[in-house]
Amino acid sequence: MENRTEISELGEFGLIDHLTKNFETYNVSTIESIGDDAAVMDHFGKQTVMTTDLLIEGIHFDLMYTPLKHLGYKSVIVNLSDVYAMNAQPTQITISLGITNRFSVEALSEFYEGVYAACEKYKVDLVGGDTSASQKGFIISVTAIGEVAPDQYIKRSTAQKGDLICVSGDLGGAFLGLTLLEREKKIYMENPKVQPDLEGEDYIVGRILKPEARKDIIEFFEKQDLRPTAMMDVSDGVSSEVLHLSRKAGLGCKVYEDKLPINEATRQAAFKFGLDPTVCALNGGEDYELIFTIRQEDHDKIVLNEEISVIGYMTDVEEGCKFLTKGGNTFDITAQGWKAF
Ligand code: ADP
Ligand code: MG
Repeated sequence: MENRTEISELGEFGLIDHLTKNFETYNVSTIESIGDDAAVMDHFGKQTVMTTDLLIEGIHFDLMYTPLKHLGYKSVIVNLSDVYAMNAQPTQITISLGITNRFSVEALSEFYEGVYAACEKYKVDLVGGDTSASQKGFIISVTAIGEVAPDQYIKRSTAQKGDLICVSGDLGGAFLGLTLLEREKKIYMENPKVQPDLEGEDYIVGRILKPEARKDIIEFFEKQDLRPTAMMDVSDGVSSEVLHLSRKAGLGCKVYEDKLPINEATRQAAFKFGLDPTVCALNGGEDYELIFTIRQEDHDKIVLNEEISVIGYMTDVEEGCKFLTKGGNTFDITAQGWKAF
């Protein structure tokens, strides 16, 4: 048995100190960090973006199959993804926690290990937060701040007719990872002697438990001097996101099934579960990829990047939002994705 330190042994201030004392900052914009009434930041003539996300046990995550370190990591990543989706660089985060008495100091330290791993990888500073008891369920609220050169942020609403729709990475993996973990949980609940079988499913399990934010894509835009016309992150599934991009711009769109990037491991997992990989790619959420539109004349700038796929283009609003299958059929894209029947 590992040690268990009760939070009451440290008290609230002792706990915060224990969790945050060794953290050093990475950004010159962080002037005052944890320890005062508020953090102080100076963005030296840049513009600030700010975003926040709430994660609630039983709604957004299940501690039965989510290691705390991964949860800490992912809690940060989902916010950084929103900052990158604005074409900004994340610089600071705050984390507020509601903790039940089920948690020990060691458990929270594990959560913070994940938080710090994400902070180190993406070079963001944890500059504050709040800590409270919770009666039921672990509650995590993360706020992220980022900086962007004046007026270089990219909105969801500014795509133009004829622009190419692009996505980073591949789609549907996180949904299949979640499907697998839920299935193994159900088997375990029915018979606790059966150990979970995640053999050979590292890719999809990693996609749900340890997502990454696409910092590399933002850096690629800068290097290529490429400015997408609109952008957002893929948290709810590509079909829902293309509808946002279209509606906000007052346009229609065409998306092609044979252009959807789907990893081979994702495809195999879908077949194993009797699911259509295309439907998983369109409707599965939590991929944390970027979806963006570019002008056609910028196509040459992205062809060499294997992490970017062109999946369709923006059309007149009268043409609606259409999905073209490999078989040559056309369907309306709906918020739940594509309804084949
Ligand atoms: P206040 O009473 O002003 O809200 P707190 O005692 O709650 O201050 O917090 C003291 C310091 O610790 C502040 O800088 C706050 O931002 C930081 N802090 C509190 N909880 C957390 C947490 N869970 N993670 C990181 N920093 C925290
Ligand atoms: Mg407080």
